[in-house]
Amino acid sequence: MSQEIFPVVQWFPGHMAKATRMITEHKKKVDVVIELLDARIPRSSANPVIRELVGDKPHVVILNKCDLANPKATKEWIEFFKNDGIHAIAIDSKNGKGNKQLVKTVESLAQPIIDRWLKKGIKGRTVRTMILGIPNVGKSTLINKLAGSAATRTANKPGHTRGQQWVKVGKNLELLDTPGVLWPKFEDQRAAARLAMTGAISDDVYDLDSVIKQLLAYLEEHEPTLLHERYKLTEEERTSVDTMLEAIGRRRGCLVSGGVVDYDKVRRVILTDYRNNKLGYITFDGVDEEPYYVDEE
Ligand code: GDP
Repeated sequence: MSQEIFPVVQWFPGHMAKATRMITEHKKKVDVVIELLDARIPRSSANPVIRELVGDKPHVVILNKCDLANPKATKEWIEFFKNDGIHAIAIDSKNGKGNKQLVKTVESLAQPIIDRWLKKGIKGRTVRTMILGIPNVGKSTLINKLAGSAATRTANKPGHTRGQQWVKVGKNLELLDTPGVLWPKFEDQRAAARLAMTGAISDDVYDLDSVIKQLLAYLEEHEPTLLHERYKLTEEERTSVDTMLEAIGRRRGCLVSGGVVDYDKVRRVILTDYRNNKLGYITFDGVDEEPYYVDEE
């Protein structure tokens, strides 16, 4: 499917330059970087140039929203990152699950830095960290959970950008209370569809028809049982994504006068079902998945 899922040009260039500037500026003040990914799409929600931006800073990968992902796939992804020499942790920042482990991991990654400081006679210096991730991956939710009450915030230290503060989150750890917003992989249309499904892209900027068709095609290929359990489609109705859409529309009463299927309504019903986990807990990105190739027609 080579149809563009969402129009990138109007959205990204200015944001990319701003994000790069913000990260480059803050990176200097930060000892460890926290990269937030969506556990349902660890590859699609990763920024394409994150390694360049982070450089050789120690960094930890967080698979956030693990409550919505397939637990088996989450384990595979943690192993995948480990094999690449990267610490990865699954968390559910909405409910605060995994936060303690996150603080501990950042502190342990910073230990060699603390040791170096001690050798130089620097004692009691706090380790500084910041959170980076694409929109809607849960950065603010995590910062708020980690920060706890506003009282823990270190107020207006001189020399910091106005409105940005360091929040104490552990014994020796401070977190920048403003996250670094990264851009997603918008040239990869498979990733774009997955970003759209999971809510990383505003619902009014992408083509819902092609996103829903990709969702149905994915379910038919990888999770036919979930699809069957929800919509009770017959073999014949599952011939193509179009026949599936029509059958789901009839079954769910998405009809206009004359008994014609209201396709726009069916698409929204399916998206709502998926977003409300009525289709189960799905991780779309697989560790062994073939890379996406751009269709060069
Ligand atoms: P940001 O744009 O990266 O700062 O994302 P937000 O923190 O605003 O979160 C975007 C949406 O994801 C909000 O509706 C959050 O409630 C939700 N969210 C964030 N973390 C989690 C999580 O771990 N699990 C679930 N289920 N939802 C989450």
